[in-house]
Amino acid sequence: MTEWDDQRHEMVARQIAGRGVSDERVLEAMREVPRHLFVGRGMEQSAYSDHALPIGEGQTISQPYMVAVMTEALSLTGAEKVLEIGTGSGYQTAVLAGLADRVFSVERIEPLARRARELIDELGIHNVSVRVGDGTIGWKEFEPYDRIIVTAGSPEVPQSLLEQLADPGILVIPVGPASIQQLTIIDKRDGVVAERRAGGCTFVPLLGREGWGPEREGIY
Ligand code: SAH
Repeated sequence: MTEWDDQRHEMVARQIAGRGVSDERVLEAMREVPRHLFVGRGMEQSAYSDHALPIGEGQTISQPYMVAVMTEALSLTGAEKVLEIGTGSGYQTAVLAGLADRVFSVERIEPLARRARELIDELGIHNVSVRVGDGTIGWKEFEPYDRIIVTAGSPEVPQSLLEQLADPGILVIPVGPASIQQLTIIDKRDGVVAERRAGGCTFVPLLGREGWGPEREGIY
């Protein structure tokens, strides 16, 4: 094993399994994906530490523990079509790609989407599509999605995402004011939508038509 592999195994043992994430497939995926390639330039040495890190364009790669919690909440078996909003570095995308059948990911900042695409290609991952655009309105072309994950904080659950969620389906999204959100897990089954909260979290804002749109700018 290389030094990076050691650090990654240690990260999973201490920060993730050690804090109660138990889905073995999630743990294994996070032992596999080389997180140090996804962090901002010069940040490699901190890649396996317990926090979010800058990736450029004012955005961040999420804390490893948060990636694990959100991924576990999706209950992926390998057969699912997943929509991800907020590609960012592409790290969460790569984790999802190893656990689902197909991943569609939307990012509003073009240089981030391009870099993520390159990295995903370099890693030989072939079940990911990345698009530049406003993910608050989903990705209509390929709906419905068995799972949807939003990795930016939203004032409320975008209606378009609820509509593009399959039945049965699970949607995971941080909801609430800019300063702190609640990780919200939405379960759609037999036409009924149930919602539960899984704790506080802080994400960069989801900017767009059904997120923090221009009409809400004053709140920021
Ligand atoms: N999952 C990412 C986290 C990136 S941070 C990672 O592991 O690196 C959240 C990302 O959401 C940022 O890149 C930001 O540009 C993006 N974002 C914010 N609003 C968006 C929107 N409406 N549509 C798509 N992406 C959005």
